[in-house]
Amino acid sequence: MSEYDLILDKYLLFTPGPVNVAESLRSAICKEDICHRETDFDALLLAIEDKIISLLQIKKRARYRAVVITGSGTAANEAILSSVVGDGSILILSNGEFGGRLHKTSLIHNKRTHLIELPWGTPFDPLQIETYLNSHKIDVVAMVHHETCTGMLNPLARIGALAKASGALFVVDGVSSVGAEVIDMEACNIAFLSSSSSKALGSYPGLSFVVGRTKQFERLGRHDAKTTYLNLATFYAFLTNHNQTPNTPAVPLFFALDQALRNVLREGVLKRYARIKARAGLLRVGMRRLNLDFLIDEADMCSVLTTVRVPATVDVAALRARLREKSIIIYEGKGCLAGKVFQVGNIGELSDADIRFFLATLKDVLLALQTEASDRVAPVTRKNQRLIVLSESKPKHARVAL
Ligand SMILES: *Cc1c(COP(=O)(O)O)cnc(C)c1O
Repeated sequence: MSEYDLILDKYLLFTPGPVNVAESLRSAICKEDICHRETDFDALLLAIEDKIISLLQIKKRARYRAVVITGSGTAANEAILSSVVGDGSILILSNGEFGGRLHKTSLIHNKRTHLIELPWGTPFDPLQIETYLNSHKIDVVAMVHHETCTGMLNPLARIGALAKASGALFVVDGVSSVGAEVIDMEACNIAFLSSSSSKALGSYPGLSFVVGRTKQFERLGRHDAKTTYLNLATFYAFLTNHNQTPNTPAVPLFFALDQALRNVLREGVLKRYARIKARAGLLRVGMRRLNLDFLIDEADMCSVLTTVRVPATVDVAALRARLREKSIIIYEGKGCLAGKVFQVGNIGELSDADIRFFLATLKDVLLALQTEASDRVAPVTRKNQRLIVLSESKPKHARVAL
């Protein structure tokens, strides 16, 4: 029996979130029932905040605070966009799906929303941004760090420096990069950073958080509230006055997030980043060996996922379905990339054996799909060969008896 057979008893989530969670999280989420208006929860919330500050390796710890929101990453982004701008103006930088979502959200809350939009997967041009900032009065600049739709990592330090030079606040969507990539909030001049529980941090979906400079949190109260639930000033007031959240938090998810952060810190932040990067490297080498091409340069990629061009003869929906039969879950491309790419994540509890299993399965599936495609063009003769390839497929969740 091969190692591949042994791991067929679960879905392997090769997605950029949700992810396969660690066993320690399964027990953490089942901890005792506590009341969120008791000191137990105060301690839990402060412990999570403390770990988030450690994760981000912030040296002057008192200068930053973190609020935790019950709601996915979008909630944290909307909290920032609706709480930070007031009557001022905001410039959204977009080179993908999630930059587009920041823009859409900002339009709802901020009348003076500006946009620099580039085609998906195109790196920003700092000169263009500098020129724009010099010729417009912009109070806040918003950018996605890791544009998950293409896998591209946008340059925090450069854009942060431009925002600072123009006197604007810099706010960043770090939903898919926090926990996998170095983000130096101090050096990159980031006023507010959002992230979520269910991507590189490896916990269950449902929580998000905003880390911000204490000084900037203090200043939020001067703006009129634009939402009730997602008002960062209210979250900050409850944190500083009561060590609590304004509304009923999803307490079991807080237990799980605390455990996930504990796991990251125990491993060592930089060690973990290196491990995720090495895993991406393993996947990328393996996929290049299958003659697959990537959407963007490897130097521009985040280490949490790889965006792969779909080979000409392959239908991406069929590819996904065949991989699912083998318990492997991947992403399809979105928007203008739909049908053209598939995405392979490498976060969560995936082992090197899982990666090897993925690569071997991908090879089989691609071969089968390509053989079937060539049969459609020149039918008959290759039927037998095709059957041999397909006969290897096992039903979903098949567990081989030990
Ligand atoms: C996933 C993602 C979001 C949205 O997060 P949800 O948890 O789905 O609400 C926002 N921004 C980026 C960059 C993401 O990858």
